[in-house]
Amino acid sequence: MGSAYTTMVADVIARFKRLQGSSVLFITGTDEHGQKIQRTAVERSLDPQEHCDQVVASFEDLWQKLNIQYDRFSRTTSQRHAAIVKEFFQRVYDNDDIYLAQQQGWYCVPCEEFKEKRELREDACCPLHPNKKAEWRDEENYFFRLSKYQEALETLYEEHCDFIEPETRRNEILKFVNQGLQDFSVSRVNVGWGFPVPVDVNHTIYVWFDALLGYVTALLDSDQEPTLENALSKWWPINLHLIGKDILRFHAVYWPAMLMSAKLPLPKKIFSHGFLTKNGQKMSKSLGNTLNPFDLVNRYGSDAVRYYFLKEIECGRDGDFNETRFVNVLNADLANDLGNLLNRTLGMTIKYCKGVIPRVANFPLDHPLKTTGQDLGLRVTQAYETIKFDQVCEEIFNLIRASNKFIDEQAPWSLFKQGKQAEVETILAAVLESVRLSAYLLSPIIPNLSNNIYQQLGLSVDFNEGDHVHQNAPFTQHSRWGKIEVSQTLTKPQPIFVRLNLPEEEST
Ligand SMILES: [Zn+2]
Repeated sequence: MGSAYTTMVADVIARFKRLQGSSVLFITGTDEHGQKIQRTAVERSLDPQEHCDQVVASFEDLWQKLNIQYDRFSRTTSQRHAAIVKEFFQRVYDNDDIYLAQQQGWYCVPCEEFKEKRELREDACCPLHPNKKAEWRDEENYFFRLSKYQEALETLYEEHCDFIEPETRRNEILKFVNQGLQDFSVSRVNVGWGFPVPVDVNHTIYVWFDALLGYVTALLDSDQEPTLENALSKWWPINLHLIGKDILRFHAVYWPAMLMSAKLPLPKKIFSHGFLTKNGQKMSKSLGNTLNPFDLVNRYGSDAVRYYFLKEIECGRDGDFNETRFVNVLNADLANDLGNLLNRTLGMTIKYCKGVIPRVANFPLDHPLKTTGQDLGLRVTQAYETIKFDQVCEEIFNLIRASNKFIDEQAPWSLFKQGKQAEVETILAAVLESVRLSAYLLSPIIPNLSNNIYQQLGLSVDFNEGDHVHQNAPFTQHSRWGKIEVSQTLTKPQPIFVRLNLPEEEST
C-alpha cells in the first residue's frame, strides 16, 4: 500500500501539471538488484529475474487499476540501465571518489544499508525491521568518498532550503549530516545479483548505487543509445523525486553527492511522504494487518481509493487507514455533498428550465458562489503545487458545501411556484457552474467522477486523455468560475457515486 500511495500522489501531481499544459514525464519503476531480492527469490524457489518479472507484472496491473498514468516504467535489470550504471561508476571512479577498503559493520538486509550500532535496537534489529536481525559484515568493499562532499551538501541544503521537504524531514537530514558523513560502500562480494563493478568483476555494485541511477536511465527515449549524455539531454535535472521517508537518506544525501562527483546538475526537490498505519497500528505481515491495495480498489474503485488517501492524509506526514472512516468520508463528500448536489440541481433544471442549463449573462458582483468560486482556481493551484492535497479538497468542498447551503436557503422550488423564473435560472446556473468548476479542479484526484460530472453537464471532456485534456479544456478557462457556458438539453441525472455500506466487522 505504501508504493500505491507514493504512486497515486505522483499521478495527481502529473495530472495537475498536464491539466495546466506543462510537459510532464512521470516515471515509476522497480529497483531489482541486491541481497533482499536475491534471498526472496530463493525463498520462492525462483530465479531472481523471474521473481522481479512477477513483481513488475503485479505493479503494472495495480497501476492500471488505480488509473495511474505514468509515462515510463523503469526497471534496473534492463540492459540499457547496465550501460548507464557502468558509465556513471567509471566517471565517479575516474574522479578518484571510489577506493577499496575493509568494511566492518551491521547490515540490515531489508533496508540494504549498514547501520550504526546506535541505530539498532537491543536485539540487533533495525527499528524498521523488527523481525530481521542486522548481520555482521567484515569484507573488502569499494567505498564512495561521501565525506568529501560534506561541505558541498551542507551548502546545498542551506542555499536551497526547499531541496528537502517537508521541513521535518529536512531537519532529520541536517541532523544526520551534521554528525559527520562517512564514506559508504558501493560494492558487495557476497551478492551475485547485481551489475559487476567495472574495475573489478569479483564485486557487484551496491543496489542503491545502481537503483538511484534508474531515474537517469528512464529518461532515455527507446531509440536512443544508452549513454549518460543522451539520457541527460532532455529532461534532466528533474523537478521532483517523490519517495517514502524510509529511503530519504539515499535520495537526499547519497544521490546529490554521487551527482556532484559525476559533475552533473542536481534534481530540484526531494519530497518525502510519511508512513501509513491501519486503525492506528503499524502494518506488518507478522501482525496480519496489512492493507491490500488490490482488494481495496477491486471493492471500491479507483476514484474512491484515490480520494480517501489524498484527502485524508496531509501529504508528508504519517496517515491512517480505517475502513469505517473510509466509507464515511466517501459517503459524506462524494455521495452526499457533491453527488446529491449535482443530482438535485440537474433534476430541478429539468423540471423548472425545460432541461436546458440556463444562460446567465451577468451574475451580481456579490453573488456568494461567485465570490467563493472566482479565485478558487488560484488557491487550489497553490495547494497542488505545494503538495497539499488535503487543502485542495478542503478548498473545493468549501464551494460545494456553500452551494448546498445556497440552494437550501434560496429554495428555487418556491420561487418557481411564485413565477420568478429569472431568479430560479440564476440560482441553478450558479450552482451548476460551481459543480463544474469543482469537478475540473478535482479531476487530477478523481478523474472518472469528473468525467461523469462533465458529461452530465453536457461537456465532452475526457480527463483521462493525458496531454489532450489541456487542449480540450484549457486551464485558463476551465479553472475559473463563470467562464464556461453550457447550453445543453439534459438527460435524466444519474448518481455519480453510489453510497457505500459500512464494513460488517467494523460497523457494530
Ligand atoms: Zn532495516
